[in-house]
Amino acid sequence: MAPTYDVIVLGLGGMGSAAACRLAERGVRVLGLERFGPAHDQGSSHGGSRITRQSYFEDPAYVPLLLRAYELYDQVERDSGREIALLCGGMMVGRPPPPPPPPPPPPPPPPPPPPPPPPPPPECRTVAGAVRSARRWDLPHEMLDAAEIRRRFPAMTPRDDEVALYEARAGLLRPEAMVSAHLQLAAKAGAELRFHEPALHWEELPGGRGVRVRTGQNTYTAGQLVVCPGAWAPELLADLEVPIEVQRQVTYWFRPRGGIDAHLPERQPVYVWEQTGGVQVYGFPAIDGPDGGVKVAFFREGGAPCTPGDIERTVRPAEAEAMATAMRRIAPDLPDTFLRAVTCMYSTTPDEHFVIARHPAHPGTVSVACGFSGHGFKFTPVVGEILAELALDGTTAHPLGLFDPRRFTAPGAPGAAR
Ligand SMILES: Cc1cc2nc3c(=O)[nH]c(=O)nc-3n(C[C@H](O)[C@H](O)[C@H](O)COP(=O)(O)OP(=O)(O)OC[C@H]3O[C@@H](n4cnc5c(N)ncnc54)[C@H](O)[C@@H]3O)c2cc1C
Repeated sequence: MAPTYDVIVLGLGGMGSAAACRLAERGVRVLGLERFGPAHDQGSSHGGSRITRQSYFEDPAYVPLLLRAYELYDQVERDSGREIALLCGGMMVGRPPPPPPPPPPPPPPPPPPPPPPPPPPPECRTVAGAVRSARRWDLPHEMLDAAEIRRRFPAMTPRDDEVALYEARAGLLRPEAMVSAHLQLAAKAGAELRFHEPALHWEELPGGRGVRVRTGQNTYTAGQLVVCPGAWAPELLADLEVPIEVQRQVTYWFRPRGGIDAHLPERQPVYVWEQTGGVQVYGFPAIDGPDGGVKVAFFREGGAPCTPGDIERTVRPAEAEAMATAMRRIAPDLPDTFLRAVTCMYSTTPDEHFVIARHPAHPGTVSVACGFSGHGFKFTPVVGEILAELALDGTTAHPLGLFDPRRFTAPGAPGAAR
């Protein structure tokens, strides 16, 4: 007889470990299957740090999920005894948001008509989007001009025309600690977690009576399946028909000239900095000790398409030099000595919004979470909660409208597959 469970969680990375934890804590029989070991470095949830922030420039619709995620950071830290979040503050930096539109012109003067006003410069998404979310949800924040940025954070050298939205509640998460904590709490609540056991195939049982998952070792059945495959989504969720592009991304550590003092979390927030042409770089304070350096990266820029099987893990000296060049303008002392670099994968949807839903082709038995497009980690605990609700209650009170996979497949849908 094949072992049987209430829920199988396929993939125990960022999202799957959180789902296994929330499901097991609700008292059901959970099996978790993972291709690699616990909190491994082969997917998308490694590298020592992840930014978290609330004034979300991507879309204000994310904010309610973030508010819940922040509550859960505290809960997971308390329950697991691990240090996961360091809320050292964060800045979204770039050109100022556009001024409000001018009042309508007075009644038309006699000809000739006034020349049309020059078109406004393109919006700086990082700052304007963050301001929109902060105002929409009344989130505590400050606007800093360039002089104030330099005064508070001496390592940073903004141009005179740059500003920042500063958020004291932004900061960083330690991804390996978060995944380990969720796995620890899942196991404590009775989940059976099987590592180094990749799922080879999954299917819905006839009549929607449940699911069957086959691995090299065994075949398992369950009432519900939760699929959190990260960069393996194109192979494990092909029938979802979401055009996810898996991309290689690199993070870099540099030793700053003059040591790490100006980069310690007391003096240096996390930041996302939008440069000319919309290119974003982001960085962290020094959290790895005197010799650990400072971590920086490009956000999305230069992400070469790859698969988990063929990703190039070696980082070329020219890549590190391009990163150093981008950093010299905004933090000249930082890229003094290149220390190391790590590759990681983004799973990017065409609109860069997530996919979290009941599987449209198997709505009674399968829930999915994928396509986190390089900004998902800060949501892991709340995504776990949502997946547990979708699997056990069939629904969730969390707003998921933005994350519906059918936006890519519905005829004429704006995000329909190209
Ligand atoms: C360089 C980099 C920087 C980032 N920075 C940030 C940031 O600052 N802030 C932020 O919020 N987000 C950030 N992200 C994004 C965030 O880390 C990801 O969105 C998130 O980790 C994705 O989690 P996941 O569970 O989807 O994927 P993963 O954590 O990779 O989990 C998927 C799991 O599925 C397993 N799996 C796959 N196939 C199978 C199978 N057949 N059988 C069993 N198991 C399987 C994999 O082994 C893996 O463990 C960053 C990502 C990268 C790469």
